[in-house]
Amino acid sequence: MHSPHDPYVRVRGAREHNLQGVDVDIPRDVLAVFTGVSGSGKSSLAFGTIYAEAQRRYFESVAPYARRLIHQVGAPKVGEITGLPPAVSLQQRRSAPTSRSSVGTVTNLSNSLRMLFSRAGDYPQGAARLDSDAFSPNTAAGACPECHGLGQVHRTTEELLVPDPALSIREGAIAAWPGAWQGKNLRDILDTLGHDVDRPWRELPAEKREWILFTDEQPVVTVHPVRDAERIQRPYQGTYMSARRYVMKTFSDTKSPTLRAKAERFLSSAPCPACGGSRLRPEALAVTFAGRNIAELAALPLAELARTLRGTGEAARVLTADLRSRIAPVAELGLGYLSLDRATPTLSAGELQRLRLATQLRSGLFGVVYVLDEPSAGLHPADTEALLTVLERLKSAGNSVFVVEHHLDVVRGADWLVDVGPRAGEHGGRVLHSGPVAELERVAESATARFLFDRSPAPVRDVRSPGGQLKIGPVTRHNLRGVTAEFPLGVFTAVTGVSGSGKSTLIGEITEELSGVGRLVSVDQKPIGRTPRSNLATYTGLFDVVRKVFAATEEAKRRDYGVGRFSFNVAGGRCETCQGEGFVSVELLFLPSTYTPCPDCGGARYHPETLEVTYRERNIAQVLDLTVEAAADFFADTPAVARSLTTLLDVGLGYLRLGQPATELSGGEAQRIKLASELQRVRRGHTFYLLDEPTTGLHPADVEVLMRQLHGLVDAGHTVVVVEHDMTVVAGADWVIDLGPGGGDAGGRIVAAGPPAEVAGAAESRTAPYLARALG
Ligand code: ADP
Ligand code: ADP
Ligand code: ZN
Ligand code: ZN
Repeated sequence: MHSPHDPYVRVRGAREHNLQGVDVDIPRDVLAVFTGVSGSGKSSLAFGTIYAEAQRRYFESVAPYARRLIHQVGAPKVGEITGLPPAVSLQQRRSAPTSRSSVGTVTNLSNSLRMLFSRAGDYPQGAARLDSDAFSPNTAAGACPECHGLGQVHRTTEELLVPDPALSIREGAIAAWPGAWQGKNLRDILDTLGHDVDRPWRELPAEKREWILFTDEQPVVTVHPVRDAERIQRPYQGTYMSARRYVMKTFSDTKSPTLRAKAERFLSSAPCPACGGSRLRPEALAVTFAGRNIAELAALPLAELARTLRGTGEAARVLTADLRSRIAPVAELGLGYLSLDRATPTLSAGELQRLRLATQLRSGLFGVVYVLDEPSAGLHPADTEALLTVLERLKSAGNSVFVVEHHLDVVRGADWLVDVGPRAGEHGGRVLHSGPVAELERVAESATARFLFDRSPAPVRDVRSPGGQLKIGPVTRHNLRGVTAEFPLGVFTAVTGVSGSGKSTLIGEITEELSGVGRLVSVDQKPIGRTPRSNLATYTGLFDVVRKVFAATEEAKRRDYGVGRFSFNVAGGRCETCQGEGFVSVELLFLPSTYTPCPDCGGARYHPETLEVTYRERNIAQVLDLTVEAAADFFADTPAVARSLTTLLDVGLGYLRLGQPATELSGGEAQRIKLASELQRVRRGHTFYLLDEPTTGLHPADVEVLMRQLHGLVDAGHTVVVVEHDMTVVAGADWVIDLGPGGGDAGGRIVAAGPPAEVAGAAESRTAPYLARALG
């Protein structure tokens, strides 16, 4: 029975996704971790059930009219949850790449800094005090009038507009002009105006070239477009527009990203000369604090900003103390190298989540449950302790903290453990343990227990020797200053270092410098598609073969159904109500749009007649509903399909359904699907594989499976480079390149490079002690 004093969140009969009628009790006011192999159902329980139910109740309470819509979208499949507080989720979602938000806006620190400048800044003699809005480039009061707060001005030059001056206008000298009719129109107008369109550009007089490219005049002339047309065309009135005007207008007005990108190629952007790129009006920039203007302070690494604000005058004490106390947890979480003006789209998902986490410490919320998704992602082991401290503080403020985690140090630091499993998909979905961490040791069935309690050292493996080097650099970018790195070929290399030390920057350079030299395969965690139209089967290409199998059945031949009939992406065989998506999108006021099953096909995606064709008693929709594991049996004697399925099994994705939409896959799953489709191709010659934190989202048991695959690639003669924080992976590498020693300006150097055992002894390396521990 539930009473208001019952200290537990009690879940009864949870059946979301693969959950098998889960009953679980989790105390409130604890740090609870959810563990289990990938696909076991951790997220379905923590996010899909507990968080989703809290959300649903919240929306019902604030917006009763939303009830009908929530009903359509579907409440989580759960019998009952009692004792559930309101929930806040900090998931690792990237912000839209166009968003103007920055570290300063996400943390709200920008507002406080503006307040400080407004109230306690040093103003020039006689200047009026400014409102805090006047220090924001995003308000009319603060934006630089020259660049409208963009910080950049765009220019065109003759070199950009006319890359090849040996050409005549007729031959296309003005590369910036549009193609097709519009380009011909402009040329005909110039011709009509008496310009020589057949002489090489460079031979035209300077003032004519200047006029053609840059004039603001827009003369209207009567064009007789007869000269080079086979058929006679009628005269018309044409308006001239200079190349600059055309490019600027396209750049600022077009809705087409392609046209905009094309226009951008003819523009050079430079910092605005009026504000020097700071985006602020001169009056605001004239105000200083501790000797610097607000733009200069916003460009400092946060750790240094905090130092600058220390010991400044009495008047500002309260404001600076507040700022410093809010910067402290950000720095503690290893993000002290970020500056306030850093745009959020340039942050990694892990950095963004930790930034939000640090900000929550000051929200003053209590009595809520925070649900987090692997907050250790992207975090160096040296910073894990700090993460635990921050989670602990959220808890002691009177909240519950529920995290899905794989990092064993975080798991060990929890008060309560919910282990889901034992395996993935239909072989998982049960709670194996809910209680104190230490008690998991007795649960034989748990995949987590083996890693948490077994302390036997990693098996010794022969270190491979390289078959050459790839030399990169000197790289000067972000915090790297003239760094050269040597990547040994034909071995497994791990790149390590604290967050912000420069790992991604260095790795990014390989992509730049290797192109053209060898085959580079970069396997990232970006989604394999952004709509439910792409899925595992379409991405790997195995669906093409499956459709051929269906088209080859007697029934399909009798009905004259070709392979196209079995596609849900083209008209013919698909359900037209949902156009083969299986879902229709529902727009909810104030909420991101969500999908609900198609009322006609009920999610099957196909026209009923298409579904009458079966292969071994299953129709095409039922085949898409098979898990990889089941499909491997079903298609065992169709080699082209079986090969794809085997590689998917090999990377541990047996639990995914063939038709599972791309939108339902995690970053780690997407990465492993990409890896599998690489593995299924037969490769001749050497390939360079590059992976940025491939263990994100993976249970140690999944990591083992993945590492077998990656080491297999190396054994086959390829090169693998991973950016990694998981020390068991680093310990198993042939070569380690450690960056640092710190983040941002305190990093950006190669601190140590060599076999793991050697790097584990490097004095200056912050990775060394953790690597030494993993080496046992
Ligand atoms: P974990 O968090 O442990 O990796 P999930 O809870 O994400 O596991 O997934 C558990 C199972 O539910 C998996 O078999 C997965 O394929 C399936 N699943 C996940 N999301 C969905 C969804 N939106 N629709 C249907 N099945 C899903
Ligand atoms: P790591 O991968 O080791 O976490 P990064 O290579 O991402 O480190 O970052 C190294 C440094 O470069 C940090 O100071 C970071 O703030 C900076 N940096 C990274 N990306 C950008 C960017 N797009 N714009 C500005 N600075 C960046
Ligand atoms: Zn400006
Ligand atoms: Zn439909």
